[in-house]
Amino acid sequence: MSLQFHTVPVTPFQQNCTLLWCEDSKRAAVVDPGGDIERILAAVEERGLKLEKILLTHGHLDHVGGTAALAAQLQLPIEGPHREDAFWIEQLPVQTQMFGFPPVETFSPDRWLEQGDTVTVGNESLEVHHCPGHTPGHVIFFHRPGKLALVGDVLFAGSIGRTDFPRGDHDTLIRSITEKLWPLGDDVRFIPGHGPMSTFGHERQTNPFVADSRFG
Ligand SMILES: [Zn+2]
Ligand SMILES: [Zn+2]
Repeated sequence: MSLQFHTVPVTPFQQNCTLLWCEDSKRAAVVDPGGDIERILAAVEERGLKLEKILLTHGHLDHVGGTAALAAQLQLPIEGPHREDAFWIEQLPVQTQMFGFPPVETFSPDRWLEQGDTVTVGNESLEVHHCPGHTPGHVIFFHRPGKLALVGDVLFAGSIGRTDFPRGDHDTLIRSITEKLWPLGDDVRFIPGHGPMSTFGHERQTNPFVADSRFG
């Protein structure tokens, strides 16, 4: 496929910041720049890519902490998450204190995303699916031709996102996974916000929180 990716773990939370690029045009997007901008930019340079935008799955600090600085440095537009996560982004200064991070600037996305939207990276397109539960405005990005999904903190290999934060909701998260992710296909590979990749089919068989056998 001509959409390529490389994951750079950033921040003390080892968040999977992902570089997505179109092989034809070498144009790239950085998804969830939580911090450690120098490492992200080194990965961009190593591959001879041209960054054209920042994509965000949700408003948590470890996913967006480097956004304002990176956007300002390279004049990049910010797309995502869904407007329902605005309160998390506005509270970034509180989040930094809560997690003992160095202070970061807050920002306003240039484009809020909705269910059914499309985002582009070079000549490639990804579908946007609104998957609330971990946060109310969480979105995931799906590249249908490549059967690749970037799911942030909705689903992990063997686990699911936390729902004990303000406006988190367990039942909503389970519905996002079973009603929005599973229909995309068992053979879809996904990059979670933390930890190793997996496929939806593997999680449907083995994930203790959302395996099909739980809902039989
Ligand atoms: Zn999160
Ligand atoms: Zn996270």
